Amino acid sequence: MRRAHALSRDWLDGLVEPSSVRWVDNQRSRWGSCTPADGTIRLSRRLQDMPGWVIDYVLVHELAHLLEAGHNPRFWSIVARYPRAEQAKAWLDGYSAGARLEGEAGG
Ligand SMILES: [Zn+2]
Repeated sequence: MRRAHALSRDWLDGLVEPSSVRWVDNQRSRWGSCTPADGTIRLSRRLQDMPGWVIDYVLVHELAHLLEAGHNPRFWSIVARYPRAEQAKAWLDGYSAGARLEGEAGG
């Protein structure tokens, strides 16, 4: 929550203030989600093992959704204010690909 406020202040001109940010266990396919109507953000607990700048990216992504619901050019221009957005996206893509491979090898 404190981190979300700092990120909003640093990268989004303080335009968004989530009403709550919490960790959840039940997100298998997504890293984060939000409900723009009430300003709540949920982050997958799987993120807790990841570097802070990756968690920050997911937070910025969800904060941006509170301003812009769709994945449209306006949305990505908001996300791009976070300097490591592209790097974090690539990191998460690579992680997902690796997790899939491990799953296949194991079963
Ligand atoms: Zn999104």
